Amino acid sequence: MRILIVEDDGTLGSAMAQSLINGGYACDVVDKVAHALHALSVENFDAIVLDLGLPDGDGYEVVRHLRQRGKLIPVLILTARDAVEDRVQGLDLGADDYLVKPVAMPELHARLRALIRRTTGIGTPRFRIGGLELDTVGKQAYLEDKSLDLSSREWSVLEYLATHSRRIISKEQLIQATAGWDQDLSANAIEAYVHRIRGKIEGSGIVIRTVRGLGYMLEENG
Ligand code: CA
Repeated sequence: MRILIVEDDGTLGSAMAQSLINGGYACDVVDKVAHALHALSVENFDAIVLDLGLPDGDGYEVVRHLRQRGKLIPVLILTARDAVEDRVQGLDLGADDYLVKPVAMPELHARLRALIRRTTGIGTPRFRIGGLELDTVGKQAYLEDKSLDLSSREWSVLEYLATHSRRIISKEQLIQATAGWDQDLSANAIEAYVHRIRGKIEGSGIVIRTVRGLGYMLEENG
């Protein structure tokens, strides 16, 4: 997952970037509307964190630019606590969510995860990949209409990999994505979950490949 941060407060910009990088994201920071538009024209991002007050214009221009071109990349705007009108305008222009300053890092992560889930298709109640069907509301996976016996952690890992199929997902990303309540999940634990999931999805036409030194990739076999 790659995030573009558009923020002219250097301290806040690097704090958010460092926090997201620690969480397994790739992250780039720009501090002007023009730089944001340039970055978006030459690179792919999975989400944007967008400050509204920027030195060469306002963040609305970035939202307008994207939506006029039909680009659905999720946008999280940053606003002041009392700036209701800013939030309304941002959302009406096509921003997906907002975060109130001062930014609480866990909330930044949570909102980005939610936005990315929505845009990667996990917002749909059920989706199919190979012979697997994932019910994201019931948190159940089915193989040829038979429910798979997955622990909640196994479900979370499988859901994350399936939602990001054909992309390399690091163990750190899986830890971030699956360690909701207790945070003491290790890379070894992730390996163990993946091992068990592999056994359970055998015959589905879906494989979870190990990408040495980088993580895992879920894809259709062959
Ligand atoms: Ca600003």
